[in-house]
Amino acid sequence: MEKKDFIYEGKAKRLYTTEDPDLVIVEYKDSFTAFNGVKKATMGGKGELNNKISTKLFEYLASKGVESHFVRQLDDIHQLVKRVQIVPLEVIVRNITTGSLCKRLGVKEGMVLVRPMIEFSYKNDELGDPLINDDHAILLGWATEEEVAKIRAISIKVDEILKEYFAARGVTLVDFKLEFGKDSKGNLMLADEISPDTCRFWDSSTGDRLDKDRFRKDLGNVLGAYEEIWKKISA
Ligand code: 5GP
Repeated sequence: MEKKDFIYEGKAKRLYTTEDPDLVIVEYKDSFTAFNGVKKATMGGKGELNNKISTKLFEYLASKGVESHFVRQLDDIHQLVKRVQIVPLEVIVRNITTGSLCKRLGVKEGMVLVRPMIEFSYKNDELGDPLINDDHAILLGWATEEEVAKIRAISIKVDEILKEYFAARGVTLVDFKLEFGKDSKGNLMLADEISPDTCRFWDSSTGDRLDKDRFRKDLGNVLGAYEEIWKKISA
């Protein structure tokens, strides 16, 4: 499948049409951004790593019955995916307290939550992806009540599957962000990517950060951490 027309460029990916109106090509870029685009960098090989990692995780989720937009990996930096309309919500699933949760509520980092915590943000860069609740999403027309219920159920299932998958590979899945889309028939499915850009991974024995926090917090060896995740899941 070949790229046809350019559709859209986001912070980490570009999208292109194909000859099939229901399929689009995602190109993974080498760029890093954080703090709503304020901090930026480019690192050669990052796009390829996220493409490989995301492919592996979408394939694993599909094998466990979780549908996503992913169709197949095309080459180092390209994936073929179903064309979907993105639901303008960022769905955050947390297993351990850290990040914006601790900043916002003043709670201590590293607390293991008794069950996964789900948060919704309104996906809007200009507003800085503000935290919202189910009522905002439903009553402001961003998702129906049924869709919100389905999004919660799928997010919890993804957490169960990936938590166990990573635990078996010596990695703690701390939290992650999911996005959902709807295909031309209105079917809701997982979309975007699942990678060290969108998840927090802690090495289970050393506590080392193996994700984008290395970039956000200037911890160094950013791509080394992404490589480490790839090594652990491709072994
Ligand atoms: P926090 O809300 O603590 O900053 O992030 C929670 C989790 O969601 C982290 O795994 C983080 O990487 C992910 N996340 C939250 N917002 C975004 C975003 O706008 N882009 C990306 N790539 N990940 C996000």
